[in-house]
Amino acid sequence: MGVVHKNVVYAISCSKYSTPVYVGETERTLRERMTEHLADIRLMREKPVAKHFTERDHRGVNDVEICILERIHDKSRIFRLIKEKSWINKMKTEVPVGINTKVGLSVLWREYN
Ligand SMILES: [Zn+2]
Repeated sequence: MGVVHKNVVYAISCSKYSTPVYVGETERTLRERMTEHLADIRLMREKPVAKHFTERDHRGVNDVEICILERIHDKSRIFRLIKEKSWINKMKTEVPVGINTKVGLSVLWREYN
Protein backbone atom coordinates (compact mmCIF):
# COMPACT_ATOMS: atom_id res chain seq x y z
CA MET A 1 0.00 0.00 0.00
CA GLY A 2 3.06 2.20 -0.03
CA VAL A 3 3.11 3.33 3.58
CA VAL A 4 6.91 3.48 3.42
CA HIS A 5 6.93 6.15 0.74
CA LYS A 6 7.84 9.68 1.79
CA ASN A 7 6.37 12.93 0.53
CA VAL A 8 2.81 11.95 -0.23
CA VAL A 9 -0.73 13.26 -0.34
CA TYR A 10 -3.07 10.76 1.31
CA ALA A 11 -6.76 10.26 1.98
CA ILE A 12 -8.46 8.97 5.09
CA SER A 13 -11.83 7.35 4.45
CA CYS A 14 -14.48 6.30 6.89
CA SER A 15 -15.59 2.69 6.49
CA LYS A 16 -18.95 3.57 7.99
CA TYR A 17 -20.10 5.25 4.79
CA SER A 18 -17.11 4.36 2.56
CA THR A 19 -16.47 7.99 1.78
CA PRO A 20 -13.25 9.98 1.91
CA VAL A 21 -13.42 12.42 4.80
CA TYR A 22 -9.93 13.89 4.97
CA VAL A 23 -7.00 14.65 2.67
CA GLY A 24 -3.57 15.32 4.15
CA GLU A 25 0.05 15.70 3.12
CA THR A 26 3.30 14.75 4.74
CA GLU A 27 6.99 14.93 3.88
CA ARG A 28 7.53 11.89 6.09
CA THR A 29 6.25 8.39 5.39
CA LEU A 30 2.52 7.71 5.45
CA ARG A 31 3.18 5.16 8.20
CA GLU A 32 4.69 7.82 10.50
CA ARG A 33 1.86 10.27 9.84
CA MET A 34 -0.82 7.60 10.32
CA THR A 35 0.69 6.60 13.67
CA GLU A 36 -0.03 10.17 14.80
CA HIS A 37 -3.58 10.20 13.43
CA LEU A 38 -4.35 6.86 15.11
CA ALA A 39 -2.90 8.07 18.42
CA ASP A 40 -5.05 11.21 18.16
CA ILE A 41 -8.13 9.00 17.71
CA ARG A 42 -7.24 6.65 20.58
CA LEU A 43 -6.59 9.60 22.90
CA MET A 44 -9.67 11.46 21.57
CA ARG A 45 -7.68 14.62 20.93
CA GLU A 46 -9.36 17.82 19.76
CA LYS A 47 -8.41 17.37 16.12
CA PRO A 48 -10.68 17.01 13.08
CA VAL A 49 -9.71 13.41 12.26
CA ALA A 50 -9.88 12.27 15.90
CA LYS A 51 -13.24 13.97 16.38
CA HIS A 52 -14.78 12.37 13.30
CA PHE A 53 -13.83 8.82 14.28
CA THR A 54 -14.88 9.14 17.89
CA GLU A 55 -18.16 10.98 17.43
CA ARG A 56 -21.60 9.34 17.45
CA ASP A 57 -21.53 5.62 16.64
CA HIS A 58 -18.06 5.43 15.09
CA ARG A 59 -15.71 2.64 16.15
CA GLY A 60 -12.55 4.71 16.47
CA VAL A 61 -9.49 3.40 14.62
CA ASN A 62 -11.52 0.42 13.32
CA ASP A 63 -13.36 2.72 10.92
CA VAL A 64 -10.20 4.27 9.45
CA GLU A 65 -9.18 3.47 5.87
CA ILE A 66 -6.14 5.09 4.31
CA CYS A 67 -4.68 5.35 0.85
CA ILE A 68 -2.00 7.30 -0.96
CA LEU A 69 -3.46 9.65 -3.54
CA GLU A 70 -0.20 10.87 -4.99
CA ARG A 71 3.52 10.58 -4.47
CA ILE A 72 5.17 13.97 -4.76
CA HIS A 73 8.64 14.23 -6.25
CA ASP A 74 9.12 17.95 -5.68
CA LYS A 75 10.46 18.43 -2.15
CA SER A 76 8.95 21.85 -1.47
CA ARG A 77 6.17 22.29 1.06
CA ILE A 78 4.35 24.77 -1.15
CA PHE A 79 4.11 22.25 -3.95
CA ARG A 80 2.75 19.59 -1.57
CA LEU A 81 0.17 21.99 -0.17
CA ILE A 82 -1.02 22.93 -3.65
CA LYS A 83 -1.36 19.24 -4.53
CA GLU A 84 -3.18 18.64 -1.25
CA LYS A 85 -5.59 21.47 -1.99
CA SER A 86 -6.37 20.14 -5.45
CA TRP A 87 -7.08 16.67 -3.98
CA ILE A 88 -9.26 18.23 -1.28
CA ASN A 89 -11.31 19.80 -4.08
CA LYS A 90 -11.39 16.58 -6.09
CA MET A 91 -12.37 14.36 -3.14
CA LYS A 92 -14.75 17.01 -1.72
CA THR A 93 -13.37 16.65 1.81
CA GLU A 94 -13.59 20.28 2.83
CA VAL A 95 -15.96 21.17 5.67
CA PRO A 96 -18.88 20.80 6.04
CA VAL A 97 -19.00 17.74 3.71
CA GLY A 98 -15.64 16.41 4.87
CA ILE A 99 -13.39 17.56 7.70
CA ASN A 100 -10.63 19.50 5.94
CA THR A 101 -10.39 23.10 7.02
CA LYS A 102 -8.38 25.67 5.10
CA VAL A 103 -5.47 25.40 7.54
CA GLY A 104 -3.04 24.09 4.93
CA LEU A 105 -3.24 27.13 2.73
CA SER A 106 -3.07 29.60 5.61
CA VAL A 107 0.16 27.92 6.73
CA LEU A 108 1.44 28.48 3.23
CA TRP A 109 0.36 32.11 3.36
CA ARG A 110 2.25 32.67 6.63
CA GLU A 111 5.41 31.01 5.36
CA TYR A 112 5.63 32.85 2.07
CA ASN A 113 4.62 36.35 3.13
ZN1 LIG B 1 -17.57 8.59 9.48
